[in-house]
Amino acid sequence: CGIVGYIGHEDTKEILLKGLEKLEYRGYDSAGIAVLNENGVKFFKEKGRIAQLREAVDVTVEATAGIGHTRWATHGEPNRKNAHPHQSASGRFTIVHNGVIENYEQLKREYLKDIELQSDTDTEVIVQLVEYFVNQGEIVEEAFRHTLKLLKGSYALALLDEKDTEKIYVAKNKSPLLVGVGDHCNVVASDAMAMLQVTDQYIELMDKEMVILQRDSIIIKDFEGKVIHRKPYKCELDE
Ligand code: GLU
Repeated sequence: CGIVGYIGHEDTKEILLKGLEKLEYRGYDSAGIAVLNENGVKFFKEKGRIAQLREAVDVTVEATAGIGHTRWATHGEPNRKNAHPHQSASGRFTIVHNGVIENYEQLKREYLKDIELQSDTDTEVIVQLVEYFVNQGEIVEEAFRHTLKLLKGSYALALLDEKDTEKIYVAKNKSPLLVGVGDHCNVVASDAMAMLQVTDQYIELMDKEMVILQRDSIIIKDFEGKVIHRKPYKCELDE
């Protein structure tokens, strides 16, 4: 299982699908991608192989940001409904997540009593919480950090906001995640292999860090909002 995210000027869906193919070796039961353009988010997900997902993707959709996922189910059976991406109630936010949220039942009880969840996953709670805090008046970045501070467990995650085509919100704790630094594009993935098609320059992320990924900037912060500076390193891998 694993995640991938891309923001730039190339064909996003192709970069995501190629990235997911490189993550196939990690094992999975379903896969999906979400792409974002001025008309909003479009997502495609399927149980089974990446090849099946590829067939389901509308080749005419153009987008310059997107996120992808291969799932190894931990909460909720492996089916299309539980495959990632997952969306918030209004459809504004879309997430992919690798890992396990240990306190999701408690968070659901505490904050999301009035929300009808659309899946059986622990993951959906994260995206619903971001929207919950935005509805309470927080700006998206604050709502994202607020949510991260409440989560117990492991995650590599990427989140899209339909109202902002220029950003991908990323966070990591106890699941592997790297940022790839491209030329007017940036990428994030569970494994450097999934980004080889875009770059060989990587920035390692530490636990309890978040990133605001834009095509020309990478801002790493801790969960209090303090900026962290870290240089990329070059890594040569054979495809
Ligand atoms: N816990 C999440 C789920 O069951 C993510 C699993 C994964 O890491 O693929 O959907």
